Amino acid sequence: MYVVLPAHSGTRQLQRGLRPALHPISDGVGVRATRQRASRRHRTPLVAVQWEWFGWDLDGRFEPDLTDITPKPEKVLPNTGTTYADSLVFPTDSKRWPDSLPGTALLWFRNDLRLHDNEALRLANRAESLLCVYVFDERYFFGKSRFGGFLRIGEHRAYFLRECIVDLRQALRSRGQELIVEIGSPVDVIPRLVQKFGVQHLIFSKEVTEEEIATENALVRTLAQVAAQGQISAPVQCHAVWNATLVHIEDLPYPFPGKAKDISLRAESPVPKTRGTPAVDRVFPDTFTTFRRLVERSWTVRETWQCPEVLTLLPDDASNFNTIDWSGALPIEYPAEATRIGAEPPKLLLMRPYPDPRACYDFHGGETVALSRLEDWIWETQSLASYKETRNGLEGPDYSSKFSCFLAHGCISPRLIYNAVRDFERRVESNESTYWLLFELLWRDFFRFTAMHHGNAIFKRRGLRGVRGASKTSQSGVRSAVVRQREDVSPDARLTAWCQGRTGVPFIDAAMRELRLTGFMSNRARQVVASFLINDLGLDWRLGAEWFESQLLDYDPCSNWGNWCYLAGVGNDPRSGSRYFHPLKQAYEFDPRATFTKRWCPELFWVDNALIQTPWKWNRKMQEAFQVTLGDQYPEPIVTLREPGRARTPPKVSPSTPVDTDAAVHHES
Ligand SMILES: Cc1cc2nc3c(=O)[nH]c(=O)nc-3n(C[C@H](O)[C@H](O)[C@H](O)COP(=O)(O)OP(=O)(O)OC[C@H]3O[C@@H](n4cnc5c(N)ncnc54)[C@H](O)[C@@H]3O)c2cc1C
Repeated sequence: MYVVLPAHSGTRQLQRGLRPALHPISDGVGVRATRQRASRRHRTPLVAVQWEWFGWDLDGRFEPDLTDITPKPEKVLPNTGTTYADSLVFPTDSKRWPDSLPGTALLWFRNDLRLHDNEALRLANRAESLLCVYVFDERYFFGKSRFGGFLRIGEHRAYFLRECIVDLRQALRSRGQELIVEIGSPVDVIPRLVQKFGVQHLIFSKEVTEEEIATENALVRTLAQVAAQGQISAPVQCHAVWNATLVHIEDLPYPFPGKAKDISLRAESPVPKTRGTPAVDRVFPDTFTTFRRLVERSWTVRETWQCPEVLTLLPDDASNFNTIDWSGALPIEYPAEATRIGAEPPKLLLMRPYPDPRACYDFHGGETVALSRLEDWIWETQSLASYKETRNGLEGPDYSSKFSCFLAHGCISPRLIYNAVRDFERRVESNESTYWLLFELLWRDFFRFTAMHHGNAIFKRRGLRGVRGASKTSQSGVRSAVVRQREDVSPDARLTAWCQGRTGVPFIDAAMRELRLTGFMSNRARQVVASFLINDLGLDWRLGAEWFESQLLDYDPCSNWGNWCYLAGVGNDPRSGSRYFHPLKQAYEFDPRATFTKRWCPELFWVDNALIQTPWKWNRKMQEAFQVTLGDQYPEPIVTLREPGRARTPPKVSPSTPVDTDAAVHHES
């Protein structure tokens, strides 16, 4: 059943009033069918879609639909095989930028959705006139993942992204600018705008992974073709800008393609070959420890750029913006209008996933929220001071920074976070926790540079193990805690159960439901569920990475695929056999009172805390006492696990393999 309510502000209050106390897990297939039914009959079925998404109707009855959520592949994005080295445009060092750019520049916003410390905006602002553009890339909104056939962008990230765009457009308007928002492929949209406004410079933040580089290359080629065919008066100059990392690519002591040849920190500050301090190599290091030690020797973090109060203006013919005939435009505050102007915007952008009251943090996209989160977490609550002790938490807003969602979309600059941490160290206190946040930001950089260095390897099953020069790790020594696996459960059903949070292993289910219903999961839980998929369910790790890609608010290709590679034992970890996270051990240690488990598995509310993590031990009498029947209210476990403490084989480390001590601390099991 569904009803249609107009998408105006009163709607949310109404929704809130009708919300049931608990959300069951629903599926994507049922939702799609409902959405199609609804859209055939009504033009704006937005609210109805949201309600049915959570499997309940207006009478307030729960109708959990537990159909298989693994959709079959429909539109699979091609594997382009393009690596960073194949890029047609490399970032230009900011020291070499011209002081002014004659003519009009088009700034293509990507994962850099902010005004502060935005290097691409800094360059673009030197032009005579400026067009700011964002394109909702239809290939991600309509595409499916390669192996699991999952949506590339789930509803939580889609909405978060939309909020980022609304906020960015507001910020640009307050500085005399505008944001052109289009839906389609940047390769089609941008050349059209270039032609229409006689753009001379295309400026964008450089990305490092295959699909993003393929898009950049296709765009550069298309613009060259357009110029060759005489459709524009002069060739467009393309400027890629380095924007995403804490440490600028030019300040690294490693060579990368496109890096300015005369800058070599290696020559300027050689690191001695002493015990414990790894030697600088001509290639990017294999281990995080080596990378970190070299970076920390001089901590070259560039100054942040302040966005001026008034930005370079739009070209004259674009100033009366609303009259421009730009088909496909999305009037984003009023989604109902999108259909009126004839565009068919991605449905996901029009839906606001119901905010789950159990979420650890009320996530909203945009630079404004990002800056206030920085202020709150570092200065108001001063949570930074105890970050090292709390960072493995599972519940609540402050056990960790929650910066990842903002960093992934570029709503906050990592350099701004660095400055705030240093400021906090000077004014309040400097301790292991303050250092640890920077340590984690370096991991983020490390995954990005690794992805660049090893090209497509992070997306391949054998990961970096198939790459020359990378550490040859092996999964031998990892021993699963599974003692019995249900034979009637196929690999496909195992995957579905994992995605839905219905494996019958409560700690895993709780974490997977949190992800599904909020788009977020703590770092600790991510490690445990990933290890479970790989080692206990025996599934291809890339399926897990794809599901995370679909669901995570903070999805970042380098961090996601890099971490998955790492946990699968095919990444940048020289240790072998040490990435196993025993689900029961983790649950006992990090959720000792089962509050996290019960939060997301409310059907287990009456279960004794001492037994909650091991449903396979519940006999019929216990189930009656716990008011839960296995196979009915809660799924029959698909695996039975042995208790921790016994039968763990010590990790085998070959004598020739250097031990990455940071990895041990960061990913300890
Ligand atoms: C299987 C798996 C997949 C992951 N996928 C992503 C992803 O797609 N995007 C993403 O940003 N992070 C990913 N992470 C890393 C990490 O889990 C999240 O960055 C972190 O949980 C986000 O919460 P936070 O911002 O509160 O982190 P905090 O603990 O407050 O850390 C501060 C920042 O440091 C960085 N950071 C911390 N841990 C890591 C890490 N292991 N790898 C890279 N950067 C790190 C993040 O930018 C984070 O915002 C993944 C980890 C695992 C194990």
